[in-house]
Amino acid sequence: MPLLYFWRGDNYHRDLDEGVAFHLNQSSQRLHEIERGDSVWAFTRNAGGRYVLAAELVVRAKTRNPAGYPYGPYRVWGDRERSRYFATDEGPDAELLIRGFDLSVGRGVLGHSFQGPGAVRKLSLADHRSLAAFARGLPLEARAHRVDEERLELVVARASPEVITETLYDLGSGMGDDRRRWIVREAVARSRAHVEALRRMYRGRCQLCAWESRTAHAVDVCEGHHLQWLSRGGGDALENMALLCPNHHRLVHALDAPLDFADLAFDLGDRRETLRINEHLRRAA
Ligand SMILES: [Zn+2]
Ligand SMILES: [Zn+2]
Repeated sequence: MPLLYFWRGDNYHRDLDEGVAFHLNQSSQRLHEIERGDSVWAFTRNAGGRYVLAAELVVRAKTRNPAGYPYGPYRVWGDRERSRYFATDEGPDAELLIRGFDLSVGRGVLGHSFQGPGAVRKLSLADHRSLAAFARGLPLEARAHRVDEERLELVVARASPEVITETLYDLGSGMGDDRRRWIVREAVARSRAHVEALRRMYRGRCQLCAWESRTAHAVDVCEGHHLQWLSRGGGDALENMALLCPNHHRLVHALDAPLDFADLAFDLGDRRETLRINEHLRRAA
């Protein structure tokens, strides 16, 4: 069943500034009632005060967030290929359309009907189809492009400051300028320190398969992976990182696989793989 989600303007802008996340968080469990392949439609109020469509996420995975996560325990992930973000400044007014839906929205300010647990509503198939027709041909948000996260992580892990800066500008329009500056100034140093800490903690082993290069070959080749990607608003904290062997790291990127904090398993689409060793990541409450 498709859903309609009211995205507060400040949260929407934070998401775009920090790197379009292709996921949504919520405190209400209703967000997880959606099936894979169904759409979450997000709308917001733009700078001109109009209610406009902000995104359609075609859901690919549902995960729980770690205990204490500030934006709620429930998360859905949009398929990168099929999801889209709309340019909200130019978007047409969607208020009349939304008021016409079968949602028992009051007569007052539209956003007020979508506060707290009311922020996520189930949509009928007919209302979903109306939104799809309304969204056809809408201008898209320029910042919502895919970033080559694998390349980004590689330079963050190893490259010199000059190469990092160069690469960040090379990566195109998928990130805001503040995000790029933050990565150069802060994320690089901290991420490298965290990888060293993880290698000490796990004696260089992959958290998924426990493969160890250190005892067999006397080198550390397991890599730090940012669970929420740096280009998509992820932080440089230890709690956002896992130590993975190069094979598992490639796999997780190729499948865009999120870690579900409910059971500390990577969601690989048709199957799940649980971390075999973990000391530093906290499960969902
Ligand atoms: Zn592995
Ligand atoms: Zn990674």
